[in-house]
Amino acid sequence: MREKLVAGNWKMHGNLSENKALLEAIIPQLADLNRASCAVCVPYPYLFQAQAVLQNSNISWGAQNLSQHEKGAYTGEVSTSMLQDFACKYVIVGHSERRALYGEDDATVAAKFVAAQKAGLTPIFCVGETLEEREGNITEQVVARQMDAVLAVAGVAALAKSVLAYEPVWAIGTGKTASPEQAQAVHAFIRGKIASASAEVAAGLVIQYGGSVKGANAAQLFSMPDIDGGLIGGASLSADEFVAICRAAQQV
Ligand code: PEP
Repeated sequence: MREKLVAGNWKMHGNLSENKALLEAIIPQLADLNRASCAVCVPYPYLFQAQAVLQNSNISWGAQNLSQHEKGAYTGEVSTSMLQDFACKYVIVGHSERRALYGEDDATVAAKFVAAQKAGLTPIFCVGETLEEREGNITEQVVARQMDAVLAVAGVAALAKSVLAYEPVWAIGTGKTASPEQAQAVHAFIRGKIASASAEVAAGLVIQYGGSVKGANAAQLFSMPDIDGGLIGGASLSADEFVAICRAAQQV
């Protein structure tokens, strides 16, 4: 059986004291998780704090982005070796906000995916369609194109060491969640597409759903056969909500 993984994406939120309170609130409440795993992806300046606070807990941590370059004249960028210095386990790659606001195209996302894996980090590789694309009935084409870019440079075997996150752009931060059936349909498409290259990789791949997941809708989403947990934005900033979502992953 695949593990369920819930990962928080704090985006550009938090400060030292709020983070401390949030992490210290969730650690004891998640100490008994054994059928689900959980992680938080924090802003770069707080990786040191995340490592210090979480290192003896069962909560993993990671970053929200990385540079595809190893080192050099890339002002403002953060390399994989820097993330390794803080013992990151995960790094989000290709989040729709990076794609839309910072011009990350499929090729850049693929290069970041490869760089993350080369450094032993587990990429949380995000795919998903906009509302316009969904209404134009091209959701599967868009998701396939995003996946193909990574498959072309990394190969299907590499997906076994990654997490995939299906995040319909129209559901991120909008309060509009894909229905469990809508999400399941795309998750099944993703798993089927991978199965056509490797049934084994497809069967083991954790595919998270992301888009306005809350404590109140998590269990329904996570009980779908191809939904293996969630990538959580807004609700990961509330200890009560995040704990409720992680507990839902543990219970389904
Ligand atoms: C996200 O940031 O990846 C996300 C899914 O955000 P939210 O849960 O707020 O929709």
